[in-house]
Amino acid sequence: MAKEPVYKEVVDEVYRILWPKKLKLFTAGPVACFPEVLETMSFQMLSHRSKEYRELHRDTVERLEDFLEARKGIVMLFPSSGTGIMEASIRNAVTPSGKVLVTIIGAFGKRYREVVESNGRKAIVLEKKPGEPVLPEELDEALKKNPDVEAVTITYNETSTGVLNPLKELAKVAKEHDKMVFVDAVSAMGAADIKFDEWSLDIVFASSQKAFGVPPGLAIGAFSEEVFEKAKKIPNRGWYFDLLLYRKYQEQQWSTPSTPPIPQIAALNAVLRIIERMGGKYKWLKMYQERAEKIRKGVIDLGLELFAKPGYYSPTITVVKTPPGIKGVEVYEEMRKRGFEIAKGYGPVKEYTFRIGHMGYITDEDIKELFDNLREVINELMKKK
Ligand code: PMP
Repeated sequence: MAKEPVYKEVVDEVYRILWPKKLKLFTAGPVACFPEVLETMSFQMLSHRSKEYRELHRDTVERLEDFLEARKGIVMLFPSSGTGIMEASIRNAVTPSGKVLVTIIGAFGKRYREVVESNGRKAIVLEKKPGEPVLPEELDEALKKNPDVEAVTITYNETSTGVLNPLKELAKVAKEHDKMVFVDAVSAMGAADIKFDEWSLDIVFASSQKAFGVPPGLAIGAFSEEVFEKAKKIPNRGWYFDLLLYRKYQEQQWSTPSTPPIPQIAALNAVLRIIERMGGKYKWLKMYQERAEKIRKGVIDLGLELFAKPGYYSPTITVVKTPPGIKGVEVYEEMRKRGFEIAKGYGPVKEYTFRIGHMGYITDEDIKELFDNLREVINELMKKK
């Protein structure tokens, strides 16, 4: 094989399919990646059984365990998106005919319910109106009424409504009732604090393409010892997401049972090193918090309303109500024409909202340009009505 690319033009051909225009991303994920991430990913492959890969795996897992404050728990990496671990949580840690209390505050809580039911378990639902979080007293009441559930599922950050649930308080209530806590942190991990051990969480999972700003294809999960103890008693856990098998491979050889997405893991490792260089976890989380505040202020300065209940705003995605008579999708389409990919409304609130994602590689200049354009788009749409 030649050392230099021979068919250089194929790269442009693919770019023309995927990137006909270079859009600025304010998406719900996949999000824009750091330049360091893109560069880290363009290396030659190596075996996932090699000494070098094992070192990368070990280092990434240990950095994640620090980041998630999971010293008692164990972090593992999966060749899937986050939903894979959502399914694994049910297949590995809920008995085949068992019950789960599924809290729903939007589209992704609904997905958890579907995952529970499609795996033959029973879902008991605690559902709130879109825009609202689950409150600890509501969870307490639901658990008093349903003492036989084995676990509680919580969407930490509901990407469809822009609401951050009070995870620490909810987990405390679940533990008072002696229930396992499974957390969908897909759009929270990396931007909202997670103290895995201190909050007594059992399973927390996320996808690479969200707040860590890495391309999709890698899922990250943290698991308590209790999960593995439970899994030992559960038949038919499947193979691909058998947590006991994953743990065995990690403990014996710092690898995974099937082939992992090595470029994504290298990229995540780079991001965890960037976090370290920026001053550590809390400095990084503060960056996300300040960015979210700037976005919310921008929305309010345009005279628009936020969808989420005050006090529960998401640090990663802001859901905006459209002015009367304007559809969310119209704002989305007009912004696209101007080179910005925001996110359409999602789920039941789709029609009259649009979303501004603020994860990954976004500069202050990008935010300024976003709002300069959004102001003009809203004014133009209002004039047409
Ligand atoms: N949960 C939440 C809160 C999400 O935002 C998403 C993705 N938007 C998912 C689950 C599903 O994640 P994935 O597509 O990476 O499996």
